[in-house]
Amino acid sequence: MKPYRILLYYKYVHIENPAEFAEEHLKFCQDLGLKGRILIAEEGINGTVSGTIEQTQTYMDTMHQDPRFADMWFKIDEADGHAFKKMKVKVKKEIVRLDLEEDIDPNQLSGKRLSPKEFYEALQRDDVIVIDGRNDYEYDIGHFRNAIRPEVKAFREFPEWIRKNLSQYKDKKILTYCTGGIRCEKLSGFLLREGFKDVSQLEGGIVTYGKDPEVRGKLFDGKCYVFDERISVPINQEENVIVGKCYHCGKPEDRYINCAYDMCHKQHICCPECEEKFKGYCSVECEEHDRAHVKEKVVTHATSGAIRG
Ligand SMILES: [Zn+2]
Ligand SMILES: [Zn+2]
Repeated sequence: MKPYRILLYYKYVHIENPAEFAEEHLKFCQDLGLKGRILIAEEGINGTVSGTIEQTQTYMDTMHQDPRFADMWFKIDEADGHAFKKMKVKVKKEIVRLDLEEDIDPNQLSGKRLSPKEFYEALQRDDVIVIDGRNDYEYDIGHFRNAIRPEVKAFREFPEWIRKNLSQYKDKKILTYCTGGIRCEKLSGFLLREGFKDVSQLEGGIVTYGKDPEVRGKLFDGKCYVFDERISVPINQEENVIVGKCYHCGKPEDRYINCAYDMCHKQHICCPECEEKFKGYCSVECEEHDRAHVKEKVVTHATSGAIRG
């Protein structure tokens, strides 16, 4: 067993005075020694934290003692160390930003919840439309076979994209999925309100699907993008299909890196050979800019030194 754990969790439940809750919660997490990112809104909590087995266990037990979070489901991954650098707790309007004119409460309106096994079976029907409820860059390193690529860079772009591109599927059987389930709770509710008649969502998301002892991640191709230092995690235990392509050479690859130029920092899929060849930069321009930047810094430093001298 590895010494650390990474928790992924959310709960749509009313939180009175989110600012006050967030402040206390940050202190609680810091005292425990956890690191990670937690969003608090009046509609609930959305978090991912890392810590030792003991720290994360204390966190889960304490949260479960609060009636609001008594049934909160923690998805647990083992890890060798922390997956975050800091502990942040932020107050937001929504725990996943959808920006609807009229908000949706998933406790009132949400798609049918399918277990990994039910989802796996539904995936194999030839009359289903599978909608990936994540962003395009998440889809690009891994997704369910036959899922439609969402042309969105952020979750709040979904309503417009759906209205423009998917309205012909209103009578079809729709399957939605996301990393841990939180986005689909709202997305599936939105689809129902838009007039889609038969909408289901993968309960617990891709990470739960990958751990199901019976399904073993089957029909998920590539890796699952995660919002921590791991960047991606494996899902399919039976088959290793690579769906991503190197940004430079186009070779199959599913590893994301950030451009070495700090002012760019563009996240791109990059094979080890191209990482070496391009020195971790996303483009020749970034490499040149960075070199000019360094030179400028040296010159400025030398000049200011001279003036002072
Ligand atoms: Zn390459
Ligand atoms: Zn760049």
